[in-house]
Amino acid sequence: MNEGIQWTEDDVRFMRAALQQACRALDEGETPVGCVVVRDGAIAATGCNRTNAARNGTRHAEFVAIDQLLEQAGSDAAAARFSECDLYVSCEPCIMCAGALSLLGFRSVTYGCPNDKFGGNGSILSVHQTGCGGCGGGEQQQGQQQQQQQQEQQQAADGAAAGSSGGGGLDQQLPKGAARQPGRLYPSRGGLLAAEAVDLLQRFYAAGNPNAPAPHRPVRGRPAAPAVLADAAAMQLG
Ligand SMILES: [Zn+2]
Repeated sequence: MNEGIQWTEDDVRFMRAALQQACRALDEGETPVGCVVVRDGAIAATGCNRTNAARNGTRHAEFVAIDQLLEQAGSDAAAARFSECDLYVSCEPCIMCAGALSLLGFRSVTYGCPNDKFGGNGSILSVHQTGCGGCGGGEQQQGQQQQQQQQEQQQAADGAAAGSSGGGGLDQQLPKGAARQPGRLYPSRGGLLAAEAVDLLQRFYAAGNPNAPAPHRPVRGRPAAPAVLADAAAMQLG
């Protein structure tokens, strides 16, 4: 996550909309992660986790929103204008979603709380800064990439020594050599309304996670999730 970011009123408004989507997921017995996609200054698509209802572990909030954009565009990815889309999501995208956002060419990502187990925007991997690596054929260039990465790390170290520490906003400089990787690099910012996002997740796990400490408190009006779904829920973050 980035510290000291100056959030705009629009940032807060869009993240609150993402949190509303997360609340909707919670109400429906899903891991409470939600998102909105902003294009042309307005919300173009929304999504919340649907993995349990869909019996599909890939139905993360981001994928639901992406499918909505594609549907609006008649399944034409160019018409969906992903490169003009900014994602606001309550929890850091997982590695799978971070890869999809990169391959589709999203312009930016803003998230709430970090995803310490599966995060693809800095917690576990930094897909937003590296692209998708070998998943799109980039492994053939790996040796060259490692060499360039070493050069970049040296340059970054030189920059830090000179006091040019970046700052971390949407306009932060992306690593050099980015285009060589499959997918597009994108700026990612975290920590916006993180406490609200964490609160929703804690409510979900306190109520429905069979691994939660006793006493186990079932959710009123919602059947207890089968163990396999509850285990899968741990992977639905982001
Ligand atoms: Zn995901």
